[in-house]
Amino acid sequence: MNAEIIAVGSELLLGQIQNSNATYLSKELSKMGINVYHHIVVGDNPDRLFNVVEAGIKRSDLLIFTGGLGPTKDDLTKEVIAKVTGTGLVYDAETEERIKAFFARRQRVMTANNRKQALVLKDSTILPNDHGLACGMVLEKDKRKIILLPGPPNELIPMFENYTQPYLLNEIKIKEQIQSKVLRFFDIGESQLAEKVDDLIEKQTNPTIAPLASGGEVTLRLTVKGSDISENENKLEELKARILERTEDFYYGEGDSNLARLLLDKLKNRKLTVAAAESLTGGQFSSALTDLPGSSAVFRGAIICYSNSVKEAELGLSREVLEQHGAVSAVCAEQLAGNVRQKLNSEVGISFTGVAGPDPLEGHEPGTVFIGLATGKWSKAFKIQLAGSRENIRERAVKYGMYYLLR
Ligand code: ATP
Ligand code: MG
Repeated sequence: MNAEIIAVGSELLLGQIQNSNATYLSKELSKMGINVYHHIVVGDNPDRLFNVVEAGIKRSDLLIFTGGLGPTKDDLTKEVIAKVTGTGLVYDAETEERIKAFFARRQRVMTANNRKQALVLKDSTILPNDHGLACGMVLEKDKRKIILLPGPPNELIPMFENYTQPYLLNEIKIKEQIQSKVLRFFDIGESQLAEKVDDLIEKQTNPTIAPLASGGEVTLRLTVKGSDISENENKLEELKARILERTEDFYYGEGDSNLARLLLDKLKNRKLTVAAAESLTGGQFSSALTDLPGSSAVFRGAIICYSNSVKEAELGLSREVLEQHGAVSAVCAEQLAGNVRQKLNSEVGISFTGVAGPDPLEGHEPGTVFIGLATGKWSKAFKIQLAGSRENIRERAVKYGMYYLLR
């Protein structure tokens, strides 16, 4: 767990008082094994405090604030934290009672200002103040812990010792986080992939590596356990790098989505559209893409060119190509991809041609597949040899097409 301490108060910036709260808190946190990475001092200014809170939430697991919990206008720590985190402020009945009793005992009138001290962040845990009126708070938000403590050291120290430290010790001990990362591979079998990282799988206990195959895609799930979110993340990144050193040729992306989803996201991010010429696949590529919501932003359309006459008439495939190379050829695939791109006005064109079987075609065995890719600048074709049923070959061809587009 990494922490930062944020002291709020213009008097600190003016040099009128020393930031002894930060010194005290740093000592205590380091004794508990919590790394303090930043000390921040900020004045009683809502905008600057807002920026500090925002930055802190981005980089630290634990943020401890001191000061600015009092009744006056310039005490605005909780108000600003409420704004940044989108958390409401509510009156805490117990604190309000305590404040009322305090004024009653002293036979003084309680002002509206004082009532403000009973305002707490919604869903936060209250840290009682045994030596003053402002209560402390613990807010857990998006895996971050935000703790608010009062400024006066004679209030802060007991509140830390009696309520904050026990809370933190408990969190460190049992609130183990489980984080994972899924690496996605294609064009490699599960056992082949597992073999490449065998020694890592055997040696690693935290994080662990679990291979899984489904629908021609193979994934490695890396899972780490530990209380420190950023340390966990680092461990996952390190392991990922070690795995990719050996498997990069087959890697196409990270996360729980599949080839089609990742392709769609990538095209969308790059503001690219795609059009397809589908011979072998008869529309299956288009179907797989349009199954997904959001495909209209990237998919222009397709021409199903199952017969050679449609390849010629609709996609301008030249007679020479058909006569010299045949429909099952790299040259044909390349030309179809380029022509469908132009005809349907997309940035990228893809084509599928080949033999689904069961019988050979043009002297090619079933499973011979050519996939063409074309952009405005280049075109190329990939040859793959697939095995299995007709259905299998067509399905796998679609996935290869997506894989080539992704890489
Ligand atoms: P109060 O209810 O007293 O207003 P507060 O939580 O609003 O408490 P501040 O108004 O920021 O806190 O500070 C109150 C006093 O606490 C300061 O005048 C100073 O004496 C002390 N103090 C505040 N911040 C620190 C700090 N970082 N280190 C040491 N002392 C501090
Ligand atoms: Mg104050």
